[in-house]
Amino acid sequence: MRDSFTTRLLPTGKPEEFKTAVRAAADLLRRGGIVAIPTETVYGLAANALNPEAVSAVFSAKGRPSHNPVIVHVDSMPMAHRCVREWPVQADALARAFWPGPLTLVMLRSALIPDSVVAGGSTVAVRWPRHRFVQALIEACEFPLAAPSANPSSRTSPTTAEHVWESLAGKIPLIIDGGPTWVGIESTVLDVTIDPPRLLRPGMIHAGALRAVTGKITTGGGPNDPVLRSPGLLEKHYAPRAALLMGSWADATELACRLASCKADKRGIHLLVHTIPPMNPGAYGRLAILPRDPEAFGRLLYAELHRSDALGAQLVVVERPPDSPEWQGILDRLSRAAQGRL
Ligand code: AMP
Ligand code: MG
Repeated sequence: MRDSFTTRLLPTGKPEEFKTAVRAAADLLRRGGIVAIPTETVYGLAANALNPEAVSAVFSAKGRPSHNPVIVHVDSMPMAHRCVREWPVQADALARAFWPGPLTLVMLRSALIPDSVVAGGSTVAVRWPRHRFVQALIEACEFPLAAPSANPSSRTSPTTAEHVWESLAGKIPLIIDGGPTWVGIESTVLDVTIDPPRLLRPGMIHAGALRAVTGKITTGGGPNDPVLRSPGLLEKHYAPRAALLMGSWADATELACRLASCKADKRGIHLLVHTIPPMNPGAYGRLAILPRDPEAFGRLLYAELHRSDALGAQLVVVERPPDSPEWQGILDRLSRAAQGRL
């Protein structure tokens, strides 16, 4: 694979631009190339999911460990069926309720899916995205797209084309600008090879919404759980360069102690909150007040983390969101971004 590219950035805002971008991306993908594309969750780095060499180019551009399988994106139920050996009954109801959308279903893989996509495992993760660009692109290609998030492995996922540019310019030939993504965190991942289905990664489609369709689901049991789990989900992930600390103003004393004990200068500390903090925020490097609404918070969170990184923050303090089902996806990303830090 080439390791240095002149990276092109194509807009999609006007109908002609949209068509040109679909054509350019489809051409590249057909020739085994890789391209960064918008989806409704985060920007993805896409390759032809049926071409093992193209898929390995995605892994090397990201520095992604080969044991971490990637999601396969489809544009229809027939294409989803072709990726899967056995189609579980639950998958039909879930697809009817949530596809196209930010739900990924883990099922037994068909012979069509190469080993590298699924890290040699027996299952494949499939999603039918809602974003019009990726739909048009898969329609043009007529093959499914393997696409992890378009960022260096373990870092914060990109929610704008500029985020992709900052980390992958020079490493990939093409970035498609489809505007800011509107879900803003990665898809919910649900294993439907077992009954009841098992939630592997929480997301904006939350456990309550899934239960309304499937009746029952189980949730993850941690690293020692013997049941099939999601390989990429045990590691530190989704992290900004700055250290990240989650805290609650209800624990103001504890949080103040932790802030005082950390080495960062106050100007290097950024506060990301949804209520006004009790201390004087003026002393800190930056205060961002996000809406106390999970969907709006999720849409803005990664952009705020990218912004703090761009401004050179040493520590980002995020106010702990409520512990209700709607916030689980956000809590999960924040906990894993904070893991092993401080
Ligand atoms: P990303 O593409 O970075 O959003 O990560 C996709 C995540 O989906 C991976 O880290 C896995 O945890 C999960 N995933 C993908 N394929 C599978 C699979 N076959 N079985 C279980 N989890 C999967
Ligand atoms: Mg990722």
